[in-house]
Amino acid sequence: MFHYVPTTCPYCATGCGLNLVVKDGRVADTAPWHRSPVNEGKLCPKGAHAHEFINHPDRLTTPLVRKAGQLVPASWDEALGLVAAKFRSAPPGTTACLSSSRATNEDNYVFQKFARTVLASPHIDNCARLCHSSSVTGLAMVFGSGAMTNSFDDIELSKCIFVIGSNTLENHPLVGRRVILARQHGAKLIVADPRRTPVAKQADLHLPLLPGTDVALLNAMMREILRQGWEDREFIDARTTGFAAMKDEVMQDRYSLENAAKTCGVPAADIATAASWVAQSPSCSLLFAMGITQHAVGVDNVRSCANLQMLTGNVGNPGGGVNPLRGQNNVQGACDMGCLPDVFPGYQKVADPEVRKKFEAAWGCAVAEGPGLTHTEMISSLEADTGAIRSMYVMGENPVLADPGCGNVPEALRHLDFLVVQDIFLSETAALADVVFPVAGFGERDGTQTSAERRVQRVRKAQDPVGEAKPDWKILCDIAARLGFEKQFSYADSDAIFREIASVTPQYAGMDYVRLDRPEALQWPCLSSDHKGTPILHRDRFTTPDGKGIFTPIAFHPPAEVPDAEYPLIFTNGRSIWHWHWGSMTHRSPSLERELSGAWLEIHPDDARTAGVRDDDVVRVSSRRGSVELPARVSSAIRPGVVFMPIHFGESAVNLLTNTALDPFCRIPEFKACAVKLEKVGK
Ligand code: SF4
Repeated sequence: MFHYVPTTCPYCATGCGLNLVVKDGRVADTAPWHRSPVNEGKLCPKGAHAHEFINHPDRLTTPLVRKAGQLVPASWDEALGLVAAKFRSAPPGTTACLSSSRATNEDNYVFQKFARTVLASPHIDNCARLCHSSSVTGLAMVFGSGAMTNSFDDIELSKCIFVIGSNTLENHPLVGRRVILARQHGAKLIVADPRRTPVAKQADLHLPLLPGTDVALLNAMMREILRQGWEDREFIDARTTGFAAMKDEVMQDRYSLENAAKTCGVPAADIATAASWVAQSPSCSLLFAMGITQHAVGVDNVRSCANLQMLTGNVGNPGGGVNPLRGQNNVQGACDMGCLPDVFPGYQKVADPEVRKKFEAAWGCAVAEGPGLTHTEMISSLEADTGAIRSMYVMGENPVLADPGCGNVPEALRHLDFLVVQDIFLSETAALADVVFPVAGFGERDGTQTSAERRVQRVRKAQDPVGEAKPDWKILCDIAARLGFEKQFSYADSDAIFREIASVTPQYAGMDYVRLDRPEALQWPCLSSDHKGTPILHRDRFTTPDGKGIFTPIAFHPPAEVPDAEYPLIFTNGRSIWHWHWGSMTHRSPSLERELSGAWLEIHPDDARTAGVRDDDVVRVSSRRGSVELPARVSSAIRPGVVFMPIHFGESAVNLLTNTALDPFCRIPEFKACAVKLEKVGK
């Protein structure tokens, strides 16, 4: 006998619903869940095989404690006691906490509360810092709220879709499905990407721009729109401020079609066509992902996208919007829950004394003053050995592979007095820890996660956790109790945590597990128990103080590192449909691993000829920070002058190459563009 447990996919932030098939008390398969309005029963390969890693033999099943240099199994009592003793004697505010965008809202909420109260530390961040912090910061600056403005099903209504820096059909395949459906209904599709990705192959217009030239392209499009008088005057006058300064910037000659064509490496006529389609279609939805956000000008890129959409009146309307396609399943929720160094749950400012008082009253204890350090600042503080950070608590993240120029991270972590990691597998970071806790993962815990379209959805327990694994929140509560915070962390279950979340997070105030049990769940903001949720943001006013959207003049700046005689190629990177991020789950899924089990370097035939490289030759790619060796894949699907690697393979870690330059506003690194050279090293 078997039964189905409906839940939400653990991979990307599309948030597809699926059924876990449970046989003899264990998850045995995945099946479609046709009632989910997000994906209507359809799944991409990752979702279709989402069950395969759950009972993998590599799962952590007991706590591990380092003894004589080795991690060895320990009892919960010993491991919890050791961690509590270390934190009892640690100076307040010296622990850095990295939360997990793969964990539930309940786990993330408890972790930031734990950091700010039990550890008295403001230093809490999550992997959004490395993927979409520029979306959160940039859109909050412009609209007052840093989230996707429209919904996935709304994309289907659009008459023009402008995809920039998103390999949608591989990274968010069920969002890609909406794009294809819109096109079948007559929408025009523009894709700006240095590679002819699967979605670019479907495009009516592909702009294969050079990495890091997005602002030049967007400003040139806006200049053309203004020159032709295609801007939406009514929207600009009624709903925005700052238009004149933005116009002064984009009307400069450096953004003429011809000059932008030279900067971006795309034909001037194609930029003009893109401008015409965006401005003259009845609606245009702009979708972007990490091709826009992972730059030292990531916030500028995001604000430039917002400028274009406000200029053409495409915000707050069906079929329009500025839509960041967030990465991990719950990266939106980790941010909503306040796992950011400058905000509490609901983006309430840490620096505001009144807000801090509110949380002290709600939690019944003192709360650390902030803002704290970002993820990237934590690591650079450790590299510099400043002493500001003495210990680190990592929940389900892997900075050893995820950070730019990651060759230095293990050495930085060695400066810690104490490192605790909780995870489902022994990650590269967990292998360096003093204590490792085994965690109940997907299919083993109840809770909620929030997709990119702000939809707060249930995840459900289908089997008991493997071995002695426990939910993240439960481990944190056990430590808190040992440190005298039993009252503040005495939750009976995840439902009790969610009720507390709703009581302190205005956007979630009208939600509870009963309302979220429906397949369509609820999209925030949902302000009261009779509020129906919000599929489209900013319909009548923005969430800025005066309700107006803010145009910003954005000047084009090239990437922090550009090609030169020694490093003549631009390196960029991305994902494949078969794997997810660093692959801790998908590499343990036999069906996915069978499809793709190793990295490659994609290179244009012209560049391959210059380098004397042929298909399948082994090449060494080197930047100023490190080298990797891997087979070449010669392909005209990538533009000349640019080489590409997938990010999923630790043995060919892209971040040995990437640049550590940071965005000045949100501190996101410039993952997506750096200079490299290559040489053939074998066949
Ligand atoms: Fe899962 Fe994303 Fe694929 Fe949907 S599109 S099944 S959420 S990985």
